[in-house]
Amino acid sequence: MNSTSVWDVAIVGAGLAGASAAIVLTGKGVRVALIDSRETYPACFKAEKIEPDQADLFRKFGLLEGLLPSASRIHEIVSARSKHVFRVQHYEQYGIFYQDIVNGVRAQIPSSVMWKNARVQDILPGSNVSKVTLMGGETIAARLVVLACGAGSNLPAGLGIRKRMISERHSFCLGFNIARKDGKPFPFDALTYYPDRLSARVAFLTLFPIREVMRANYFVYRTVGEEWVSRFGKHADEQLMQDLPKLAHFTGPFHVSSRVEMCPIDLYRADEGHVQPGLVLVGDVFQGPCPTTGMGMSKVLTDVDALCECVPRWLSTPGMGIEKIEGYYGHPRKTSCDARALRGAAYQRTLSTDPSLRWRIYRELMYLWTRLSGWATTPFKRVVGSGAEKRSSM
Ligand SMILES: Cc1cc2nc3c(=O)[nH]c(=O)nc-3n(C[C@H](O)[C@H](O)[C@H](O)COP(=O)(O)OP(=O)(O)OC[C@H]3O[C@@H](n4cnc5c(N)ncnc54)[C@H](O)[C@@H]3O)c2cc1C
Repeated sequence: MNSTSVWDVAIVGAGLAGASAAIVLTGKGVRVALIDSRETYPACFKAEKIEPDQADLFRKFGLLEGLLPSASRIHEIVSARSKHVFRVQHYEQYGIFYQDIVNGVRAQIPSSVMWKNARVQDILPGSNVSKVTLMGGETIAARLVVLACGAGSNLPAGLGIRKRMISERHSFCLGFNIARKDGKPFPFDALTYYPDRLSARVAFLTLFPIREVMRANYFVYRTVGEEWVSRFGKHADEQLMQDLPKLAHFTGPFHVSSRVEMCPIDLYRADEGHVQPGLVLVGDVFQGPCPTTGMGMSKVLTDVDALCECVPRWLSTPGMGIEKIEGYYGHPRKTSCDARALRGAAYQRTLSTDPSLRWRIYRELMYLWTRLSGWATTPFKRVVGSGAEKRSSM
């Protein structure tokens, strides 16, 4: 095999992780082949909000501007529980469908990236050259393979990588559109609403704009097969009002105005066999996020950031042995982000479901402290008034 047919990096999967890595690496002079089985990323229920740290990383990669045409800027986030506002925050946040994020990133891939629309069947990593075999038999050779195939692929198992389940069926996410019955705009820009009783098994409901719709992400601790899940599928409005009976105080009379999308969440991590010469795992294929933390894309983009710091250095010397690969898995920003995501997921679940006296007291003190600490000095009438003006002028 001559050296011109060996790419510096072959990236398997062009979701958020793979497509962003292709762009950042190319910007650093790395020759990249990018492979995905789907020409266009299809509509799917995943991250629907860009958080401030994620906006910073997109900006650092030069990708944020390209996403803005599909995104709705959120100006003010009201947090409430029962009938009380306990916090009003102003920070950089955007509502945007996941497929628009990925396709918006993909649209910025430079023409020097070799794009291959194919399913990867097999990967053979090695310390000098790694090989990626596509369905149909074609082979792509590269010094490094970046596996960015997301959560559901069987490629890791084929490579002998063991996934450790940290918390099976950790949480359950629902996504749907919501509208006021009177057709008027909601009187807020974005609302995060917390339950006032544990038996609802709810983390929170977040309402935020994506283009012309008010989108709802609802995070609960339920499992497929529970009656609650099928009831929500059939009678979403009623179940929502049963779980959060005082929500209408903020929203006015509402109804669920779209299909309800549901997704059970497992917390897992690649635990054994992932440190191999010539191979790295980025994004959800390495560690699964719990969406209640809002850190899924933070983790993905931090992986990309850490990896793109390492790769030009690795390529400057021969070989791609595990001493190089370990530098990525041990990168301080990556390890700290992964650990925070796991801690955050465990904390949110305990906060939302633990019935012990200790946690009951902690929970009430936490809401009280947040309220008293001056975050909620803006009277609710003013808060909701300004939000309504913004939405109606969109
Ligand atoms: C319901 C839900 C809600 C979420 N909410 C949030 C949120 O509010 N905030 C947040 O930050 N994060 C959230 N997340 C997490 C976030 O969406 C993920 O962390 C992120 O999408 C992972 O990106 P990825 O690139 O690793 O994987 P993906 O986007 O899944 O990309 C994987 C790519 O690999 C390709 N692929 C797979 N196998 C092959 C193969 N054999 N050959 C070729 N190509 C292949 C696929 O086609 C795909 O394009 C949520 C996740 C879910 C499920």
